[in-house]
Amino acid sequence: MFYISINTNILEGKMRKCNKCDKEKKNNKFRHDYKKTCLKCEFRFKVWLLRKLAYKSKLTAYQKVASRIGYMGSGFLIAAQWKIDPTLYVIGFTLILIQTSSRKQWNLVALNCNGLIAWISHILKSL
Ligand SMILES: [Zn+2]
Repeated sequence: MFYISINTNILEGKMRKCNKCDKEKKNNKFRHDYKKTCLKCEFRFKVWLLRKLAYKSKLTAYQKVASRIGYMGSGFLIAAQWKIDPTLYVIGFTLILIQTSSRKQWNLVALNCNGLIAWISHILKSL
C-alpha cells in the first residue's frame, strides 16, 4: 500500500507563515512544503556568492587526463609560434584536439582540425 501525502496548502493556494519574519507568504516563497522559513529569510549573501563562484561540473578521469594533455599541447603551440616550426604546430593541435573533444567543445575541435590540416599540408608542400 502506498500513501501519498498531499500538502493541502498547495492545492488550496493558502498562505503560509514564516517562522522568522512572521509574515504570511505564498507557497512559492518557501523552498519546499516542509520548510518553515521563507526564501528571503534563508538568503545569505556569502553562501550565495560562494555557490556562484564554485566550479560545479565534475570532470571524469578521462577528462582530467585529457586536460593535462591539452596543457601540454598549448605549450607546444606556444613554442611553435616562436619557432614557426610546422611539426610543433601539428603536435600541439593534435594534443589540444584530444582535450577539446573530451569536453565536447565541437567548435574548438573544428578549429583545431582546420589548423592541423593546414599545417600538415604545409609540411607536405615543403617536402
Ligand atoms: Zn521570512
